[in-house]
Amino acid sequence: MGIASINPATGDTIKTFTALSDAELEAKLERADRAFGQYRHTMIVQRSRWLQNAADILEQKAQTFGEIITLEMGKPIAQAVAEVNKCALVCRYYADNAAEFLADRPVATDASFSYTAYHPLGAILAVMPWNFPLWQVFRFAAPALMAGNVGLLKHASNVPQCALAVESILSEAGFPSGTFQTLLVGADRVPQLLADDRIQAATLTGSEGAGISLAQEAGKNLKKTVLELGGSDPFIVMGSANLEAAVSTAVTARMLNSGQSCIAAKRFILHNSIAEEFERRFLAKLKALTVGDPLSPESDLGPLATSSIRDELHQQVQRLLKQGAQLRLGGELPAGPGNFYPPTLISDIPSGSLADEEEFFGPVALLFRVSTIDEAIALANRVPYGLGASAWTTVAPEQQQFISELEAGAVFINSMVKSDPRLPFGGIKKSGYGRELAVEGIQEFVNIKTVVID
Ligand code: NDP
Repeated sequence: MGIASINPATGDTIKTFTALSDAELEAKLERADRAFGQYRHTMIVQRSRWLQNAADILEQKAQTFGEIITLEMGKPIAQAVAEVNKCALVCRYYADNAAEFLADRPVATDASFSYTAYHPLGAILAVMPWNFPLWQVFRFAAPALMAGNVGLLKHASNVPQCALAVESILSEAGFPSGTFQTLLVGADRVPQLLADDRIQAATLTGSEGAGISLAQEAGKNLKKTVLELGGSDPFIVMGSANLEAAVSTAVTARMLNSGQSCIAAKRFILHNSIAEEFERRFLAKLKALTVGDPLSPESDLGPLATSSIRDELHQQVQRLLKQGAQLRLGGELPAGPGNFYPPTLISDIPSGSLADEEEFFGPVALLFRVSTIDEAIALANRVPYGLGASAWTTVAPEQQQFISELEAGAVFINSMVKSDPRLPFGGIKKSGYGRELAVEGIQEFVNIKTVVID
């Protein structure tokens, strides 16, 4: 696939882009390298001012950037505008806190003086996905730039205008030329970038396949990576849960971004005592959702981002039904233009089906029933992924058991899994490694330097 903006609601090609030539790519790498030589010496207070400016721009033009997001990848406009405002939040968070996170840390040893310092590494490559096309980039860029690194963005090929918007926001904010550049290139150029000595490390958010491929190439070149990959997050509801809150949250947790989120709740694991009632209310709420024009404030769900994402999802649904699962809602491709897919509910899923292996990246909710907490945890942990987990119970020992036994990078009790700049974000197992956000996120791409003075 070439680099192009294609409106997922209509199938119309808005704009196509030519990938950078080798000479153009070389010029950008050279510019990044030169920029790092200067930028690494800028004062943190100056970087912080630039990042606050970026937050101001994002907030002032939230509607404009929101429309770019919606036109390129199809999320409902209110969610797109909220995404832009969340980018401002992560900029302000690191602008306010990076100095403290990166301050020298004295350590008492036998030496006269010793401490840990946090120094920048250089140019960091960010390979990013289309599902949160601004947020995923800013949550990388804000800490990376505050740490004194420079950023190179290889964004998903279906969101080039978002990619260019990020570069222009940071440039308008005052960051010097070359400190953050968008590289309009396809995934085929990533190995060449990872082999380049001017790039020190890489981060990728996306599919397991892309993660494995990037990690292999980075490994050949001994470069550090952070990977944020897929998830098949459980949403467990026990008998004591506040059922109305759990059901309402379940709808949001599954359907946000038309279901295209790594931390979306994908498997609903219900205790037998409340399963029937939960399913009845959940089904009613899913039926009430409006799928339609993502620019209309009336739409709860827009189209899926690309036609191949929709095809893949529909095939998964068909395969799961063939394996014996029951379709309770949706599951049919609508007629007409655009990549629309209806809210879909599937129950009676046999053990050993593809639901134990694969991520459903769209508005498809999978229902399971269990009779004990141990069964719920075993089912939750049965998938190869380990990103987030949401568990609903008011019983304290049950809460503790979920926290200690769920295999996930995050456990949320009585709420949905979501990212927050103040909390680390990332997964275990095949959901990847490393952490973004919080103090842990900014420390991923720094040289943690030991200094001893005698
Ligand atoms: P990909 O993982 O293919 O794309 C994400 C990014 O990785 C894009 O920038 C893409 O570039 C790049 N990429 C793809 N292949 C490689 C590679 N071999 N080496 C280096 N970079 C690569 O996601 P898709 O759009 O294909 O979505 C497929 C599935 O991925 C989804 O159904 C979902 O399961 C998962 N996904 C998970 C996300 C998450 O948030 N964890 C986000 C997006 C997808 P290019 O666009 O040029 O191919």
